[in-house]
Amino acid sequence: MSATSFGFNAERVHEEVAELATEIHGLLLVPGEEGYAAESSAYNLNNPLEPALVVGAANTADVQAAVRFAAGHNRPVAVRATGHQVIRSTREAVLINTSRLNGVHVDAVNRIVRVEAGVRWHEVVEKAAEYGLAPLNGSSLDVGVIGYILGGGQGPVLSRSQGYASEHVQMIEVVTADGELRKVTADSEPDLFWALRGGKGNFGVVTALEMCLFPVTEFYGGGLYFAGEQMAEVLHVWRTWAAGLPEEATTSVAVQRLPALPELPEPLRGAFVLHVRFAHLGPASEGEALIAPIRAVTTPLLDAVTKMPYTSVGMIHMDPPQPMPYYDRTTALRELSAETMDAFIELTGPGSDCPLASVEIRALGGALDREPAVPDAVPTRGIPFIVFAAGVGGPDQAGLLQGYLDRIMRRLAPWAVEGNRMVNFLSADEATTAEELRLVYGAERYRRLAEIKKAYDPLNVFRVNHNIVPA
Ligand SMILES: Cc1cc2nc3c(=O)[nH]c(=O)nc-3n(C[C@H](O)[C@H](O)[C@H](O)COP(=O)(O)OP(=O)(O)OC[C@H]3O[C@@H](n4cnc5c(N)ncnc54)[C@H](O)[C@@H]3O)c2cc1C
Repeated sequence: MSATSFGFNAERVHEEVAELATEIHGLLLVPGEEGYAAESSAYNLNNPLEPALVVGAANTADVQAAVRFAAGHNRPVAVRATGHQVIRSTREAVLINTSRLNGVHVDAVNRIVRVEAGVRWHEVVEKAAEYGLAPLNGSSLDVGVIGYILGGGQGPVLSRSQGYASEHVQMIEVVTADGELRKVTADSEPDLFWALRGGKGNFGVVTALEMCLFPVTEFYGGGLYFAGEQMAEVLHVWRTWAAGLPEEATTSVAVQRLPALPELPEPLRGAFVLHVRFAHLGPASEGEALIAPIRAVTTPLLDAVTKMPYTSVGMIHMDPPQPMPYYDRTTALRELSAETMDAFIELTGPGSDCPLASVEIRALGGALDREPAVPDAVPTRGIPFIVFAAGVGGPDQAGLLQGYLDRIMRRLAPWAVEGNRMVNFLSADEATTAEELRLVYGAERYRRLAEIKKAYDPLNVFRVNHNIVPA
């Protein structure tokens, strides 16, 4: 191992590694070592993880050893399952890579699945489907289950009828800052159980959890792609149509400037499109009747809305699987009036100089508005729409892309719920201060989170995230 590549006290790190190595069953790597880059890789190539040490955990004991070690050496702990939401640089941190903790066990009788920390959604979707069941996954099946659930988790098929994924968690196994492995339920440690579901990685490293599955095997849905030039017509119909959908139906729209990739079908390759996403649970004939007003607006470039097995749920959004460099922003809207939509079209439409790859509006509502039986810390209940925008490009395009992202957020600000946003969609550039994060959660929820943080992580070991500062 070479210690010369550290940007700080290399000797100290070298000694620390020797000490930790006796306890770790998995990998223990430092910068410059083979495997270090892969172990620390991120989906957003603009946000590299560059930890002082990375532990590729082979089991729960490795997670405990890494946390105890980090806390004892006054280093923060960062967690990476898939790298889909890297928040900030981790040069001082001990990074725990959970991707080898990949057990999935379905209890079909009780409709519960136990998922370990490194599992991605596609594994749960496929395993559950063997028993005619489905989980509350999100749009991309490459995303990690635990990271998604710790931020609430809003998906493209089941969320409007079942609520956030976090509501259906029954038990969480978590290694807290003292290195203890706790089995947390609503009864055993109600405060921690509340905070973990919505408070993201602030309270410990989750090693496994159990959550409910639902008896769903298929849906009617997919995507309709319209020529970007026709987006205004479609979007104004979509706006009122979406508001009238039953809870069994879910929709979102994305203005996309697609790359000229060979894997995209011809009408979409390099095209400027409006992507209308739709899913309905129930007979296909009902779904077909529901989507008819959108099909009637104009002929789409591609109509991929049809009856699908639940295992094809990733086809609704078609999120890009490959890591790429990008900048992103999100906001929450309290209404989507004709005026709001005009502002959206003005900035993203054919007459604009929009350089962004995708600007998306998700319609929420339904069960996503209702308080769950066992409350959690998710702050977005009652918000009818969220916007997520992303521009693809490296640091040389940061000025252009971030400038345009800020412009969109400023233009939509009159209709936004100030500061409040979906935790899962916060980028590295957003909510970077405690003051901003307090706005995301709301003062009362943030106060409670900070109290619980003080009880379980008083030294703020878990601070490589959107950080809740101990009260
Ligand atoms: C293409 C794409 C599509 C998405 N679609 C949706 C969607 O439809 N709905 C939605 O709600 N969200 C969605 N998201 C957001 C996604 O839920 C978050 O990015 C989530 O944090 C990803 O978790 P991960 O484990 O994959 O990523 P990672 O980068 O590995 O982890 C992200 C963060 O989660 C925390 N974390 C992860 N694992 C643990 C653990 N075991 N213990 C403690 N903390 C942990 C850490 O704070 C970590 O920094 C999407 C993101 C992308 C990039």
